[in-house]
Amino acid sequence: MSSETLANLLREERRFEPPAVLAANANATTADHERAAADRLGFWAEQARRLSWAVEPTETLDWSNPPFAKWFADGKLNVAYNCVDRHVENGLGDRVAIHFEGEPGDSRSITYAQLKDEVSQAANALLELGVRKGDRVAVYLPMIAEAVVAMLACARIGATHSVVFGGFSSDAVASRIQDAQAKLVITADGGYRRGKPSALKPAIDEALTKVEGVDHVLVIRRTEQEIPWTEGRDVWWHEITARQSTEHTPEAHEAEHPLFILYTSGTTGKPKGILHTSGGYLTQTSYTHHAVFDLKPETDVYWCTADIGWVTGHSYIVYGPLSNGATQVIYEGTPDTPHQGRFWEIVQKYGVTILYTAPTAIRTFMKWGDDIPAKFDLSSLRVLGSVGEPINPEAWIWYREHIGGGKCPIVDTWWQTETGAVMISPLPGVTETKPGSAQRALPGIAATVVDDEANEVPNGSGGYLVLTEPWPSMLRTIWGDDQRYIDTYWSRFQGRYFAGDGAKKDEDGDIWLLGRVDDVMLVSGHNISTTEVESALVGHPSVAESAVVGAADVTTGQAIVAFVILRGGVTESPELVEELRAHVGRTLGPIAKPKQIKVVGELPKTRSGKIMRRLLRDIAEGREVGDTTTLADSSVMNLIQLSNTGSR
Ligand code: ATP
Ligand code: MG
Repeated sequence: MSSETLANLLREERRFEPPAVLAANANATTADHERAAADRLGFWAEQARRLSWAVEPTETLDWSNPPFAKWFADGKLNVAYNCVDRHVENGLGDRVAIHFEGEPGDSRSITYAQLKDEVSQAANALLELGVRKGDRVAVYLPMIAEAVVAMLACARIGATHSVVFGGFSSDAVASRIQDAQAKLVITADGGYRRGKPSALKPAIDEALTKVEGVDHVLVIRRTEQEIPWTEGRDVWWHEITARQSTEHTPEAHEAEHPLFILYTSGTTGKPKGILHTSGGYLTQTSYTHHAVFDLKPETDVYWCTADIGWVTGHSYIVYGPLSNGATQVIYEGTPDTPHQGRFWEIVQKYGVTILYTAPTAIRTFMKWGDDIPAKFDLSSLRVLGSVGEPINPEAWIWYREHIGGGKCPIVDTWWQTETGAVMISPLPGVTETKPGSAQRALPGIAATVVDDEANEVPNGSGGYLVLTEPWPSMLRTIWGDDQRYIDTYWSRFQGRYFAGDGAKKDEDGDIWLLGRVDDVMLVSGHNISTTEVESALVGHPSVAESAVVGAADVTTGQAIVAFVILRGGVTESPELVEELRAHVGRTLGPIAKPKQIKVVGELPKTRSGKIMRRLLRDIAEGREVGDTTTLADSSVMNLIQLSNTGSR
């Protein structure tokens, strides 16, 4: 990747000091970076002591067989005990763990003491159904509190969970059940989405006509809709848990015991089954949740809007927050049901202080208009987080102004399913933030940017993001496929983890994510980042969202094709398209001017809200579109294809 073009395109000069009140009392300090730099393993050994170990580890990292890492390998712990029981033993049983808010408006607050009882009963129920340590359990649920209970019950008995997003089709579920050879499936009759009950169990029934080895389906009653039932196989959750004891003695599991398998979002291709283990994973999720969100468990109300079906839900709804004794909100439904202010109503209702969401959601709120959040009292908020995609500077500024009241630090957290926990992020109270930059590797994490020959690039240059040292919550392998693990992550640059993302270092050495390496465009010999062209487009007042791809072009190698969604009230015209091209030219330079701009109503996104540029590239190059199984809404592609043929 040639540095000049990437480095000099986007100029973002805005800077935001950490608020003094926050800085005075922040969990993270500038000294953390220095301490970790001086003794990285010592730093992580110290963080491991945040947890309660049945057998304290004496070993920190075993890297004798790279890239297969072992962290804290001679230690033993129970992850569920760490997330629940120990808080109760510490006298915090009455603290609310979860404020559950159902889409229809029902709500329930669950204390740590109640959570302990529910998790114990669920663990006993799994044992009654024959699930044992080492077995795999598939979880296919809506965003309800029982999803957290189910995951913790698995962790408690040492069963490895594989959560499959509740919106996936029966085929997607079937292949994941098959791949993990799950013995039991936990599902629900349905969940509420967009104002109505949406069935889940039929997808499991269908999936189980295609795969074998599942003895039981444990069914949570949520919507009370009619569902098919297989006697002997299907078991009601409420019936079996009700008769279980609320006592269950947690067994200590090895630090490297498999905690879960989770498939990546499928943005760049077929999803990969990522394996995470126990001690290192919990250490890093716990530490990062404490440091990156500045969590004060006594007073904060934390809300992560992700779904448990993706890694953010695992690490920052279940394991990070609960291991820290946080009080959090879990919301079942969509942000526009029954109205477009639902999120802000929830922030106001529970006095949410820390909010963690995704750029796709922020851009949607921008599109809906400033007046909607303005109707609610958001003054309780003190830290805002972003994850999932590069956040466009304009969306960052909007988030800060309209949600954060101009006072909350924004933590733009870069990480992946594979990394298990946040790796690069500003620290609230410490970092002077820059809109659009994830900035700096966290204490104990070693990240840099390299060129094609694996040389570290100087400040002011772009290249590939790599992680140069193993980290506690790193993936241990791709489930059942060690070779693919080596090939995908550890072969591109010898001895370094290749993240698959492009990045640049600015003059201060801060890291800016530039999108997927696969998405970087090569135009007349210049590398141009999709992220930067998209950010330039979103910086225009008429544009709400945009996706940019490089399409094969006889003269320039690749030509930039942009798909844009206009803001509410703006109408499409040839003049506007010209104006947008000129705007990109002015912002980034003439080389970055899109050859074509197509106005569309929607963009193809994964279920976790990421733009799937590879599908747009297929369209721009007139190919049949590739794997769409993780697409949120498959009709979107038909619409875009139609409008595309129309414009030719
Ligand atoms: P697949 O690996 O199947 O293509 P995916 O990479 O989208 O899917 P995830 O693990 O959910 O699956 O997403 C991780 C990716 O999301 C990162 O590699 C990066 O491209 C992007 N990402 C996440 N957070 C950020 C961020 N703060 N800034 C920029 N990019 C981010
Ligand atoms: Mg990925």
